Amino acid sequence: MEYRVNRHGGEKTSLLGLGMMRLPLRDPADPTSIDEEKAQQIVDYAYAHGVNYFDTAYPYHGRMSEKFCGRALARYPRQSYHLASKLPGWLVNGAEDVPRLFEEQLQNCQTPYFDFYLCHSVHEENWPRYQAANAYAQLDERRQKGQIHNLGFSFHGGVPLLKEVLAAGKWDFVQLQLNYFDWDYQDARTKYELCAAAGLQVVVMEPVRGGGLATLCDSAAALLQQAAPDASLARWAIRWAAGLPGVLCVLSGMSTLEQVVDNTAAMAPFIPLTTAEQATLADALAAIKAQKLVPCTTCKYCMPCPAGVNIPGMLRIYNEYRLHGEIPARLRESYNEAPEPTRAAHCVACGKCKAQCPQQIDIPAHMATIAALAKE
Ligand code: SF4
Ligand code: SF4
Repeated sequence: MEYRVNRHGGEKTSLLGLGMMRLPLRDPADPTSIDEEKAQQIVDYAYAHGVNYFDTAYPYHGRMSEKFCGRALARYPRQSYHLASKLPGWLVNGAEDVPRLFEEQLQNCQTPYFDFYLCHSVHEENWPRYQAANAYAQLDERRQKGQIHNLGFSFHGGVPLLKEVLAAGKWDFVQLQLNYFDWDYQDARTKYELCAAAGLQVVVMEPVRGGGLATLCDSAAALLQQAAPDASLARWAIRWAAGLPGVLCVLSGMSTLEQVVDNTAAMAPFIPLTTAEQATLADALAAIKAQKLVPCTTCKYCMPCPAGVNIPGMLRIYNEYRLHGEIPARLRESYNEAPEPTRAAHCVACGKCKAQCPQQIDIPAHMATIAALAKE
């Protein structure tokens, strides 16, 4: 296993981290039904192969992930691994919720401290809640008491907010969505560079885009498979993310033992993509982009929709579908996961959004297409 040194605390963290948000389930329809036997095998294999960074969060698996994590890791010496969890800002309604949630999380995880603790999923809508609850100052106090060894935040907002959050405290690390697709598409490059300029190392989330980069359109997949017949498509994505010099750890939410075997092998030893492989990946990315994605930038100028449709959310689902081989079942799954009142089927084609969209996207037409695909 390849290790990186955390510049803040000096700890050695494995370059591959185990994300505990997609653990195997007994009932696929019930996220709380973690198959603990299989999940424990995943944890044990990862640990035995040098993974020492385990990432959970309060809401994962309907609040069951932290508890599983506590049980699964209890068999190992506490000093031998790094545990990360996160404050769910959307459940913080006042300053008193911060200590309440933090203490509950320590109990869930059966630990007196977190090695890495984050304000979870910071974005434009919930950052004011973190601020109103004085979350940073409260967590900083916990850091000074030794209950948090490294304090950071996971980020899902835009560049202006990132600048604001970086300036709001003395953070030790940051967690970003980094993968070769979002590098330009979601402006991940700018965010990575801003964090690097602020001296922060990055824990990477979604290196495989929630599994999306593990199944590509035929032309992109063929290019990668021709170049490396034995390598999985996911391995290209993991190697790309792990090759960024400012990366401390690459999280992968592994659901099967097979994935853990593949991902750990990619880091033992870790070999960054060669120049020729980078060029092949660039060709594959061009093939992916040729899938004619809707150019939505999630600016939300089109919102709110009077009919309640989550327009950028629906377009994202459609783009994922275009991007990953146009598998209707995949679109339906994501569509049905979206809250019912926000789905494309509620569009009444009033056209209000179309007039607001700087990308001149024919939103009502896309909503009709998405609704029809979801119904098929
Ligand atoms: S056209 Fe459809 S999506 Fe756009 S604002 Fe009207 S109802 Fe909403
Ligand atoms: S205004 Fe256009 S680009 Fe912006 S979120 Fe809406 S659809 Fe996307």
